[in-house]
Amino acid sequence: MKPTDISAPDYFHKVVDCQWACPAHTPVPEYIRLIAEGRYSDAYMINWRSNVFPGILGRTCDRPCEPACRRGRVEEKPVAICRLKRVAADFKDDIKHRLPRPSAKNGKRIALIGGGPASLTVARDLAPLGYHCTVFDSDAKTGGMMRSQIPKFRLPDQVIDEETDYILNLGIEFKGGQRVDSLKKLLSENYDAIFVGSGAPRGRELDVPGRKEAAQHIHIGIDWLASVSFGHTDKIGRRVIVLGGGNTAMDCCRTARRLGGEDVKVIVRSGFEEMKASPWEKEDALHEDIPIFNFMVPIAFTHADG
Ligand code: SF4
Repeated sequence: MKPTDISAPDYFHKVVDCQWACPAHTPVPEYIRLIAEGRYSDAYMINWRSNVFPGILGRTCDRPCEPACRRGRVEEKPVAICRLKRVAADFKDDIKHRLPRPSAKNGKRIALIGGGPASLTVARDLAPLGYHCTVFDSDAKTGGMMRSQIPKFRLPDQVIDEETDYILNLGIEFKGGQRVDSLKKLLSENYDAIFVGSGAPRGRELDVPGRKEAAQHIHIGIDWLASVSFGHTDKIGRRVIVLGGGNTAMDCCRTARRLGGEDVKVIVRSGFEEMKASPWEKEDALHEDIPIFNFMVPIAFTHADG
C-alpha cells in the first residue's frame, strides 16, 4: 500500500469534507468558529480571500459544501454553511481598511472581457501585484449575470455594488457599456494579456410546433430575467407556464409570481428528484404556491384567443 503523502496540502483539505467540496476550498470550519465568537468581520475576510463575494454567495451559492457536511450523517440537515456566509457579510463592520491597497504599477496592462465574477476575481488578484487591469462589459455596471439574471428578491443591487466596489477600488479601470466584438481589435491595443470572462449568456430554445406562431408570448428564461432586472419588463400574464427544472426555471416562476402571475406552473420532463434545480430552490417555489408537474414532455405550443 502506498504511504499517504501528507506533504500534499490536498491531504489535509480532504479531511475537511465541506472545504474540499467547495470549489474555492473556503476554510469553512475556521470561519464558522469565528462567527460563533461573534467575530463577523474576521469571518468575512476569510471568505473574501477565498471566494471573493461572500455576501453574494451567502445568498446564491449552489452550496456543494452542504451535502458534504458531516453533520448531515448524524442530523437531519447539514450545517447551513452558505447562509452563515451571509451572516458574516451582513453583521460585519466596515472592512475597507483590511482590503489590499492599489499598488505601484508594474507596467503590464491586462484587458478583461466581461464584468462578472470571473473577470473581477482575476482583476482582484492581479491589481495588488501592480498590473493595470481594464474590465470591459456591454452593461453599464459591473456584476455580469449576478446582476442581470439573479432576481433582486434573492440578491439586491446593494450587495452586488458593495462587493464589486471593493474590487474596483483596487485601482481597476471599468469600461461599462463597451461590448467587445473583435478580439483582433483588442489585441491591436497592445495589452500584455487578455482574459475572456464573458460567461455563457445564452438560454435554451425549445423548437416544437407553434413556437413561431406564439413567439410573442414565449420568452427564453435568462433573457426574460435580464429584461425584468433592467426594468424593461414589469408585468406578465395571469396564467404562466415555466418549462424546465433548473435553477433558472425556479427564478422565472418566482419572478412571474411577483409580476402578477396568479396561476404559475412549472412543467418538467424529469422526475422531481432528478430536477437540476437545487432542493432549496424547489422548496422556495413550492412555498410560493407554485406547483411542479414532473414527467411531462412539451410537444407543441398552442395559442388561442389573443
Ligand atoms: S456556500 Fe459556496 S462558497 Fe461557501 S463554502 Fe459552500 S460551496 Fe464554498
